[in-house]
Amino acid sequence: MALQYPRRVDLARLPTPLQFLPRATEKWGQGQRLWVKRDDLSGCLLSGNKVRKLEFLLAHAQDEGCDTLITCGGIQSNHCRATALVAAQAGLSAHLLLRGERPDESDGNYFLDQLAGAHIECIPAAEYLPNLNALLAARQRSYAEQGRKALIIPTGGSDGIGVWGYIAAAQELASDFTEAGITAAHIVTASGSGGTQAGLALGAELHQLPASVWGVNVCDDAAYFDNKIHQDASDWAQRYPGVPQVTLKPRVLDGYVGEGYGKAGPEIFDLIRQLARLEGLVLDPVYTGKAFYGMLQELAQGRFADCQDIVFVHTGGIFGLMAQRQDCF
Ligand SMILES: *Cc1c(COP(=O)(O)O)cnc(C)c1O
Repeated sequence: MALQYPRRVDLARLPTPLQFLPRATEKWGQGQRLWVKRDDLSGCLLSGNKVRKLEFLLAHAQDEGCDTLITCGGIQSNHCRATALVAAQAGLSAHLLLRGERPDESDGNYFLDQLAGAHIECIPAAEYLPNLNALLAARQRSYAEQGRKALIIPTGGSDGIGVWGYIAAAQELASDFTEAGITAAHIVTASGSGGTQAGLALGAELHQLPASVWGVNVCDDAAYFDNKIHQDASDWAQRYPGVPQVTLKPRVLDGYVGEGYGKAGPEIFDLIRQLARLEGLVLDPVYTGKAFYGMLQELAQGRFADCQDIVFVHTGGIFGLMAQRQDCF
């Protein structure tokens, strides 16, 4: 049975390349081959994984007659930046609730949020964390009172709509694998709000991808992501009653959060420098640096030894790196 996708807006430059990493393979591969799915090339300003989700989320917003996208995240949220730019590109307004004090300097993603004309509120973490849903709902109500209609997009665009982005990406990977001669693989991604991993895991089942999907969590813990991934998958199943039933067993590689979300130790910045010089591939300290680091640790411990091929999903994050450039050297 062919999978029935909902409508999507063409925003991402797809398919992204699947690229072999010859020198990284030689250095770290232990006889296995290292590949990278270049989702950092999904767009220049829209770089990264969020645009795949936004293709479906924007279509939903348009179909619901919305004129505004409300979303939330950290000050340097890649998702908020992508949402701000997508809204501008579609002629909608963006309203961002950013967690933290208003920065003194405009940098990285926050700078692009401003450039794109998003309405930005910076909300201290102590107020943001316990009240996020109420804060979002209050903004939505105040738009409604002005006769406007706003869609609330949850953190990271991770919900039953957003997961379509990586269900489709898994289908893309199936043809990448055929072309590259990959017959069995481990796929590794960073997990922050869980939607990328949820979509890939669903997509791997739906498209019979010969691969196991692993997420390296960059915040919270394995139990949190196990629950979040099931939640996104059941939201998906509920919203789209015709879709096949899929049973998920999320694979979370816990132990690489470090000091906390957005805080990377010197080993992560070391790896970012090394890979930039070895392969011209630039990771970020919040997501992909930690995930690639975790992948290499697990690889060295034999976690992926049963397959010849390991595919890292480069989910973007370049603007977050710019905001932490002082820690790179
Ligand atoms: C958001 C993000 C992730 C995590 O994706 P989720 O779907 O939120 O788990 C990984 N890498 C980058 C660069 C991101 O911006």
